[in-house]
Amino acid sequence: MQLVTATRLPNTAKIDAFLAQTDAATPFVVIDVDMVAERYEQLTEALPSARVYYAVKANPALPILERLNVLGSAFDVASPAEIDMCLAAGADPVHISYGNTIKKSRDIAYAAAKGVRRYTVDCIEELRKVAELGGEGASVCVRLRHDCGGADWPLSRKFGCDPTEVENLLVLATEMGMECGVSFHVGSQQRDLEAWNESLEIVALLMARSRRRGAEPTFVNLGGGFPGTYREGAPGIDAYGHAVRTALATWFPDSVGPDATFEVMVEPGRYMVADAGVLRAEVVLVSRRSPLDTERWVYLDCGKFHGLAETMDEAIRYRLRTPHDGTATGPVAIAGPTCDSADVLYEKSSYELPLALVEGDMVDILSAGAYTTTYSSVGFNGFAPLQEHFV
Ligand SMILES: *Cc1c(COP(=O)(O)O)cnc(C)c1O
Repeated sequence: MQLVTATRLPNTAKIDAFLAQTDAATPFVVIDVDMVAERYEQLTEALPSARVYYAVKANPALPILERLNVLGSAFDVASPAEIDMCLAAGADPVHISYGNTIKKSRDIAYAAAKGVRRYTVDCIEELRKVAELGGEGASVCVRLRHDCGGADWPLSRKFGCDPTEVENLLVLATEMGMECGVSFHVGSQQRDLEAWNESLEIVALLMARSRRRGAEPTFVNLGGGFPGTYREGAPGIDAYGHAVRTALATWFPDSVGPDATFEVMVEPGRYMVADAGVLRAEVVLVSRRSPLDTERWVYLDCGKFHGLAETMDEAIRYRLRTPHDGTATGPVAIAGPTCDSADVLYEKSSYELPLALVEGDMVDILSAGAYTTTYSSVGFNGFAPLQEHFV
């Protein structure tokens, strides 16, 4: 069994009580909604000057959105359907940010009609669409591209533009009469605490240049990147809070303290829900490629097509729990149940599982509340999608 190096493992007592008595069909994820609330409180404590926009794509389940809405969270969405989910959860559209840089014109119009006001762009084409269709008082968030490394699940290649282009778009947005600001994303599961400082320095400098050309940026969006508790561990949220607060005080002194005038947004997805979920899968088969192999292949009834998409390139390495933990282990490759050879979870990451593991055992995949349920195929190979339960 792999041990995590973080000192504090999430307290899954409520989830464990559910798992001890359930006979629900696997695979499923069980979510402790109270833990989501706790994560919200911890993050707002760590970053008191930032408004939290929960990145809905991490887990859009209604009980999660409802709880966060009651706590005062705002929401970051990527599509009209996610807007509808937030509205169904009671969210005020003014607190919904349309953070996808790739939007159909009619989807911008839909958002505007629902009262959404803030849109992210990373090119002139998208800026023009928002100016035309984003409605009265539309506000533009220009996304910076910056790959700072250190993230287990990088996000920077597909989105964002270079600092000079961000500067140009800020100037244009101001000329068009729109409020504007800058966003970046340091990469998901970012384990380098310096990442925000590096990005904020670039943003502060480009904003200063844009101001000299007449732009009036009023906010900065720190994106996501805060961690879940996986095999390799990550610093605690207080360490992230300290690093980001220090960076804000350095580059955006008017964004901190009681007299802050500059708006700060943060868009956590993974941090809010990862540790609040456990995914339970059942062992379908344990086998060896040849009788002399020491490595066993463990096939679960949950794979890449049932929510474990982030095992792509073995990027996210989950902690696993079995009924035989504490007994002797041996090396394994771990795979899903489908007839697709891409459906392998781990082959190179040196996982070990108990030698006693047999067909029918339950394997719990820990901290699996983020980026799992909606990554599940509807019925590839006839396997039902990942189910979700709440405690
Ligand atoms: C996915 C996403 C997030 C959330 O990132 P995490 O690393 O899960 O916190 C935030 N902002 C945007 C724009 C995203 O696309």
